This record gives sequence, C-alpha cells and structure tokens, in this order.
Amino acid sequence: MSFEANKIRLIMELRREGIGDRDVLSAIERIPRELFVPEPFRDRAYDNTALPISQGQTISQPFVVAFMTQALQLGDRTKVLEVGTGSGYQAAILSRLCRRVYTIERYRSLLQEANRRFEALRLYNITTRLGDGNKGWPEQAPFERIMVTAGAEAVPRELAGQLADGGIMLVPVGPREEQQIVRVRRDGDDFARDNLLPVRFVPLVDGVARAG
Ligand code: SAH
Repeated sequence: MSFEANKIRLIMELRREGIGDRDVLSAIERIPRELFVPEPFRDRAYDNTALPISQGQTISQPFVVAFMTQALQLGDRTKVLEVGTGSGYQAAILSRLCRRVYTIERYRSLLQEANRRFEALRLYNITTRLGDGNKGWPEQAPFERIMVTAGAEAVPRELAGQLADGGIMLVPVGPREEQQIVRVRRDGDDFARDNLLPVRFVPLVDGVARAG
C-alpha cells in the first residue's frame, strides 16, 4: 500500500489548520507514521486522528503533534525532554528538529518497541529511559524544552524545576475528560503560564508500570 497521497492530504490539512512552520511540516513528511501504529490501523496512519497503541495508550493526533512541536520553538542546538514515549512518534518528530531528545516511558514493552523503531529509522539522537516521568531526568537536567504527552492534574513541579532558565514546557493540564495545553516559561524563579489548546490525552500516571 502506498501512503504518499494520504500523507500529502494530511500535510495540506495541517497547513489549513494553522501549522505554518516548514521544518515541522517537513519532519512530519519524513517520519513514516505507519511504522508507529499497530498493524490493524496502518491504513489510517495518515488520518488526522489519535490511534490506539498497546497497553491502552494512544499515538497522538497529527495536528496535536504538529501544534505542540511548533509551539516548542526548537533550534538545532536544543536539548529536549519528552515524558510519555508511547509509540515513539512524537520523539521521532522532535529528533529531526533539535540536538537531542531524552524520553521517558513507564511501560517497558512500549519502550522496547519504540527503541526498535528509532534504530530502524537510524534516529541516533534519542535517549530513552524506563521510569516515572513525573520525576523528570535529574542527571540530564536542565532542559531547554520539556514536552509532556500525557494529561496531568497540575503542572508537575519536579519537571518545572528541571527547566533551564528561559526554557519552555508544554503540558496538558486538567481533568480526565479534557485538558488544556499549558505553556510554562521559566524566567529565573518566575514561571509564567498560558493556555494554548484544548486537548484530550491519556492520563499521566504515577510510578513505573508493574507489567508490560
Ligand atoms: N508521545 C506518544 C504519546 C503516548 S500516550 C506518542 O507519540 O506515541 C502517553 C504515554 O505516556 C503512554 O505511553 C503512557 O504509558 C505514558 N505515561 C503516562 N504516565 C507516565 C509517567 N508518569 N511516566 C512516563 N510515561 C508515562
């Protein structure tokens, strides 16, 4: 099956929806989303929708991936932390636009699958860890950018503390049914917040998963 026509249609839709950053669009064009979705959903890989992955999790909607990536304002020297590796798709997109991506997942099986994809695609600037993303990655902090891809009840404090001065964090915050993407900008000891977009993510859970 050829995905090209669907991919072009998706890119056009993202542009219409306000994604103007060419680097973001070209990363979406270059990373094959079909390799990140389970076999039964592969023909829908370029639909602008979230799709189920294993462990009851989801690969985010392409618009949300593009929107958050664009809002992160990456540069090729930027060091980024992602919380919630899932399929690895968002990390793969980030990896094309920054220097290095650190990504944390609480399910071992998801992390193993994501690692295999990163290797197959030769995305060597992604470092992964099994762990509780709420705690961040203290050994590698501070991060110029942090992106949380699971819904939190409140802005996770430890993550905010691992932001570099002048850094930006994006995190979906709110109840289970609907969250807002909150942008946190750190300026010294000051953390300014604004809401960017209503979204619905799977929840950010405490601790490493016992099975899977
Ligand atoms: N960025 C992913 C989206 C994954 S969905 C992608 O592109 O596919 C959110 C992911 O966050 C799930 O895989 C879930 O297991 C993970 N997650 C939830 N709480 C977590 C936590 N405290 N630490 C690490 N990962 C977490």
